[in-house]
Amino acid sequence: MLLVLSTAVIGPPGFDGLAPYAGRCVALATCHGKERVLARPFRRALNLTVVVATGCETDRFGTFSGERPRPSHARETCRRKAEAGLAHTGLDLGLASEGSFGPHPAFPWLAAGVEWLTFIDRRADLVIEERLIAPRTNFDQRLVAPADDIGAWLGQVGFPSHALIARPHRTDGIGTPGSDPLIKGIRDPGQLALALRSCAEASPAGLVRLETDMRAHCNPTRLRAIRTLAFRLVRRIASPCPACGAPGWGLMDRLAGLPCGWCGGPTEGHRVEVRGCVACGHRLEAPRADGRRWADPGDCTRCNP
Ligand SMILES: [Zn+2]
Ligand SMILES: [Zn+2]
Repeated sequence: MLLVLSTAVIGPPGFDGLAPYAGRCVALATCHGKERVLARPFRRALNLTVVVATGCETDRFGTFSGERPRPSHARETCRRKAEAGLAHTGLDLGLASEGSFGPHPAFPWLAAGVEWLTFIDRRADLVIEERLIAPRTNFDQRLVAPADDIGAWLGQVGFPSHALIARPHRTDGIGTPGSDPLIKGIRDPGQLALALRSCAEASPAGLVRLETDMRAHCNPTRLRAIRTLAFRLVRRIASPCPACGAPGWGLMDRLAGLPCGWCGGPTEGHRVEVRGCVACGHRLEAPRADGRRWADPGDCTRCNP
């Protein structure tokens, strides 16, 4: 009879708690040069090699410029992209990134980007994801005529280090699909002048819709956000579950109810952080990691109605 007395964490077969994926390759589905910021964190933290799934067309999951609508939420899209990279390469580890841009969830007058990064381990049937709300984004759009002075706006959106997209303005919607010019990746003033002219000619009102090009290779601010997220994801992948040893232990949820510093009543601020495992469902609740125990009375609906 064999008696197991050890209480050491023993993970699912094949997992080394410290380096669960050392020496393996992970397929990255991207057309937009994201390997530039993803390869290094994965190599350094996990000894994992990022392999670009060449020829894997990620635009079929939708494009920022709207020629193809996004079929689903960014999180779901990200997961589908990672799965497409797996299918394309035949590898059993996959990685994908997906961003969406719009009003900030808490401060709707500001623009924010939400970035997702998803890692799939098909052999162990694990999906490990991280999300980042990037408050620094140049996401914006503007209606202009070719003669307008848009110098200040161009500075604000980071042109020319950050590229632009131009298309004719139409009051009747998007015009005839495929017939209007849609000029992406505009990166120099000469190119911009030409794009303004041709799009204004195609617009009944002589106006051009200019917008920031949010594709990663056209947007250094976005690439930086993806790099920050990559460091978070590799840290999470390298964190074994205290119950089963599977990789991917980390923050799952935040519970609201941080007490107000004046009246002690619950506020919308988060009080508890829930960490969890993506494999066995083990969960642990703990006070917030930043040590904050009281909410600002300004955020309390009783003290500051
Ligand atoms: Zn209060
Ligand atoms: Zn677990």
